[in-house]
Amino acid sequence: MEKHPFELTWKEIPLGFVQTDYMSCLKNHTGSWRSERPIWDESHCIKCGVCYIFCPEACIEQDEKGYFHANLDYCKGCGVCAQECWTGCISLKPEE
Ligand code: SF4
Ligand code: SF4
Repeated sequence: MEKHPFELTWKEIPLGFVQTDYMSCLKNHTGSWRSERPIWDESHCIKCGVCYIFCPEACIEQDEKGYFHANLDYCKGCGVCAQECWTGCISLKPEE
């Protein structure tokens, strides 16, 4: 049986494929692409929100204590958050 487009991994997506369903960003779990994941060290976080602003997937969320973390269903491991965090409290860890 043929897979639904939302079930395709990034290696199975045809060249030039365009997803047009409304709010498809919520259905596409881009986290399946990830080879590394961001890890937050809260002891150095000043809760400035810069990582949140720069995340291209808009997948960084703030918890009830004001700290930020990635929603790993949507985080693609690009490392922009780690690059932009000016206190150096985000590091990337390889996926196993
Ligand atoms: S950019 Fe760094 S210091 Fe600022 S909220 Fe994000 S993790 Fe914390
Ligand atoms: S690694 Fe990329 S996609 Fe994941 S939280 Fe950081 S900026 Fe967002």
